[in-house]
Amino acid sequence: MATARTVLISGGNRGIGYAIAEEFIAQGHRVAVTARSGEGPAGSMTVRADVTDQASVDAAFAEVEAELGAVEVVVANAGITKDTLLMRMTADDFDDVVDTNLGGSFRLVKRASKGMLKAKYGRIVLISSVVGLYGSAGQVNYAASKSGLVGMARSITRELGGRGITANVVAPGFIETDMTAELPEATQADYKKSIPAGRFATANEVAKVVAWIASDDAAYISGAVIPVDGGLGMGH
Ligand code: NDP
Repeated sequence: MATARTVLISGGNRGIGYAIAEEFIAQGHRVAVTARSGEGPAGSMTVRADVTDQASVDAAFAEVEAELGAVEVVVANAGITKDTLLMRMTADDFDDVVDTNLGGSFRLVKRASKGMLKAKYGRIVLISSVVGLYGSAGQVNYAASKSGLVGMARSITRELGGRGITANVVAPGFIETDMTAELPEATQADYKKSIPAGRFATANEVAKVVAWIASDDAAYISGAVIPVDGGLGMGH
């Protein structure tokens, strides 16, 4: 097996973050998840953190480091949507989404980079979305926050790439989650028509890619945007 690493995933109590935690555990790593409520999967350590608050993020890292050692892999997954058309979007709708998705990722990687620089090793994975580069009506705030992650990963790559640290973006398309399951059948069918793969992905299909880009095997990939979208956004 590859070297076991200490991995921290934000928003690991449900959805894609939970699946990412399960995958890292299955691969034999030491896994911590942050959650505002609930717990990560069996075999993970759960710590409370709100990614909009640097002190809360710092406290979570300190707890994890005391228990599992310095964080070597960080996955910035926590995210929210507040969808509405531009004309109706309030400044708060915009700020809340950007502060959680982009600001939250900044707070995590800022804290994580300390230990990574010391260790001269690190894997930073930012969970974006196909809409970050494709755009999406009703998601001006969300798409802006998600495309911002690309600039973040590429700037980190230029700053820290010489220190054994990589920073990459994983951009999922439609994923089978509670949210997509609740869509009417006709809407689901419409979405599927626009996806070359003709189906949604499972959260585990995203998790496998995240685990790989965070592995030792992916040491020479940094600043990349890796789509997991069945071909929906290709070319972007
Ligand atoms: P969910 O809505 O199922 O989960 C979101 C997670 O983020 C929860 O764990 C939630 O915690 C956490 N979170 C939200 N706000 C904060 C905060 N301020 N501080 C700490 N944690 C917070 O989302 P998904 O699993 O569907 O999505 C995960 C990521 O993948 C997101 O970044 C999303 O944008 C992205 N994505 C999702 C797609 C999809 O189809 N589902 C497609 C493309 C990208 P809590 O439970 O406490 O609220």
